[in-house]
Amino acid sequence: MMPSAEYLDRRIETADLKDILQLQHAKLAKQLDYLFARSLFYQDKFRAAGLGRRNYRRLRDLTLFPFTTKEELRDSQATHPPLGKHIACELGDVIRVHSSTGTTGKPSFVGVTRRDARIWTRLTARSFYTQGLRKSDIVIHAAGLTLFVAGLSSKDAIESVGALFVPIGTGASEKALMAIQLLKANSMHCTPSYATYFAEWVRREANLDPAELGLKKLFCGAEPGAGIPAVRAKLQQDWGARVTEGLGNADMAPIIFSECPEQSGMHFNGADYVLAEIIDPESGESLPVEKGATGELVYTSLERECVPLLRFRTRDRVTVLNTSCSCGRTGFKLRCIGRTDDMLILLGVNVFPSAVRDVVSSFHPQTTGQIQIVLDEPGPKVAPPLKVVAEHSASVSNLVELKREIEKKIKATLTVSASVTLVASGTLPRYEMKGQLVRRSYENPGSV
Ligand SMILES: [Zn+2]
Repeated sequence: MMPSAEYLDRRIETADLKDILQLQHAKLAKQLDYLFARSLFYQDKFRAAGLGRRNYRRLRDLTLFPFTTKEELRDSQATHPPLGKHIACELGDVIRVHSSTGTTGKPSFVGVTRRDARIWTRLTARSFYTQGLRKSDIVIHAAGLTLFVAGLSSKDAIESVGALFVPIGTGASEKALMAIQLLKANSMHCTPSYATYFAEWVRREANLDPAELGLKKLFCGAEPGAGIPAVRAKLQQDWGARVTEGLGNADMAPIIFSECPEQSGMHFNGADYVLAEIIDPESGESLPVEKGATGELVYTSLERECVPLLRFRTRDRVTVLNTSCSCGRTGFKLRCIGRTDDMLILLGVNVFPSAVRDVVSSFHPQTTGQIQIVLDEPGPKVAPPLKVVAEHSASVSNLVELKREIEKKIKATLTVSASVTLVASGTLPRYEMKGQLVRRSYENPGSV
């Protein structure tokens, strides 16, 4: 089927909320039948919670069911290798595994059946299409290709739209530059950290202006950053390209939310395969999805064979920006603020490292946007002031004034006290995959 000009799946992307809820209810009822019949993991969980299949009658009954956490999935995999007690299909029906890129512990594998993979391809393609990917595009994939959930899935999705996929991978800036030049690529898929790193690399190593390479679309994801106004402005200026971002989850689907060219938050693109809730992370209460709602994103699979998950806590902290858009998509729009794991608490105030970077980046061009928060003791509680190291550009003459201004703005914006140390441009480490905004000095006291 040929897509219409604006949407890959018009029927679902522009559906009324009422129709979506009806569809989700029908699919969830079937998914629960499947869990009760096939998932040993959920059979145990439901028994422990005293829940039977009869407890689900309408969509809002979902909130009666317990959450699933990443720790449970890890334990399940450890006690029931290779893929865990939570896989609900035959091992012989699994055609591929991915793993989450979590920084803690062993890799956590996620399997897909042929049908799961087909759904992932469609959902991921829909998300790229929402971001403006079209058949005529040539896309440099400068992100992970192997176990990374948005590697091979992006290949399948981008190819399915008919665009040209160029598998570069990570840590290969020379190859990426050559491919952009020789193939006249117009798009790139990467993390915002890499887009920042690569722009500097092109200037330094190739003595070229990245904005003159001809990239017009940057599809970013895998970490917050591209949606932060100051970071986005700098990336767009560096590359002369439109920057949009996507958000997914290794255990659920590669890209579930993505931004349309309006660039005003990521649309929920997956309502026919995933049910998204926003909860209060402390009380666990499900919040109404309306403008301004802030909380943790929770996913429920609606049509999954290998790893169907019910109320899976993502630890992604999000804010709903809007529930309508001039592009005509009806999926609500959000921005991801950061991971609950990254959150710091100063005198009871929650602070995400990405928000600190946002404030510092807003001083561009006086700052480069590179920052590091230094923790002398394990978080999340931090004794004020928050220690922030930030790079200034060579042209700044009054460093004392700049330091004072940044500290003032952090206080005004984030309501916490910070102590800013300014260092010369190029001092802080660059990351080719995901950025590290926090340095734990207590882990390696000698290092800088
Ligand atoms: Zn839109």
